[in-house]
Amino acid sequence: MLVVMQTGAPEQQVRSVCERIEALGFEAHPIFGVSKTVIGVTGDTRRLDVGSLETLPGVAECIIIGKPYKLVSREFSKEDTVLRIPTPSGDVAFGGEFVGMIAGPCAVETREQVFAIAEPLSKAGVRLFRGGAYKPRTSPYSFQGLAVPGLEILTEVREKFGMGIVTEAVDNEGVDHVERYADVIQIGARNMQNYSLLKRAGRARIPVMLKRGLSATLDELLMAAEYIASEGNTQIMLCERGVRTFADHSRNTLDLAVIPAAKTLSHLPIIADPSHASGQRRKVLPLARAAIAVGADGLMIEVHDHPDRALSDGVQSILPDEFTQLREECAQIAQVLKRKLN
Ligand code: PEP
Ligand code: MN
Repeated sequence: MLVVMQTGAPEQQVRSVCERIEALGFEAHPIFGVSKTVIGVTGDTRRLDVGSLETLPGVAECIIIGKPYKLVSREFSKEDTVLRIPTPSGDVAFGGEFVGMIAGPCAVETREQVFAIAEPLSKAGVRLFRGGAYKPRTSPYSFQGLAVPGLEILTEVREKFGMGIVTEAVDNEGVDHVERYADVIQIGARNMQNYSLLKRAGRARIPVMLKRGLSATLDELLMAAEYIASEGNTQIMLCERGVRTFADHSRNTLDLAVIPAAKTLSHLPIIADPSHASGQRRKVLPLARAAIAVGADGLMIEVHDHPDRALSDGVQSILPDEFTQLREECAQIAQVLKRKLN
């Protein structure tokens, strides 16, 4: 970190700031310029309260150099992390040469609905099935999910179709249940900064799929991932699911540029969710193609057999047949990039 002193700040002020830095357990390295003095601060400055230095007499500003996250950073691992999710039909890999696929309905509604969707998806080669048993809804009056009975239905899907299960937990108690039934815990956009939930997911023994918050910056997303990793669970994949912008032609805006940006800053795999990003069924295929083209390590797609009857997110859910086409096209795009869709 650099502490920039105000122009003409007297030496006495520079000395006091250096003393304060050293009293806090860091090293201060003043560099005296003609009119400005800058103090380099070394040590683990992630622990340093920048605000407290900025209020000292003579300080103009503090500039943070380097990133506050460590375990998830690219410096920590030059190699891309390949996250392998075990399923009864073998591992599904995300990252490196692999592009993983997750598909299923927004919510678990009934056993019949889930089976009617899982069957064609399994035929289309899907080995990770999604479906929410706990739904974080904007309205408290909307369908909130079936909770544990919903998780039990998902277990039946695993047994019958050999698919691994990706499902969301919205609170710490939910993680206890999801961990018992599922193969991947989803942390939703609204909970990306729920630090107690992130820490609980960090103590889980199964991988976590962390969705980007509705208005979260990339640094905030990576800090949220660092929360999980710092508790011991480094099996993490990030998910770009669209952010809030001024665009009114789409539910959210799929930030495709965040995918290569995340790969520069972090070794973690990042997947795209074109369903929540667009909120419209006909945009899912073009955005899925684009996400693979910019280097996404996987996709998560909402599929429903009767989208018109869906209890949540029907308007953005594609039909099983449409999914088969999407998978085919995305596999071809991945192949051009010398990657394998699995
Ligand atoms: C979901 O995946 O169904 C969901 C609620 O996603 P998000 O948290 O991205 O809105
Ligand atoms: Mn949904």
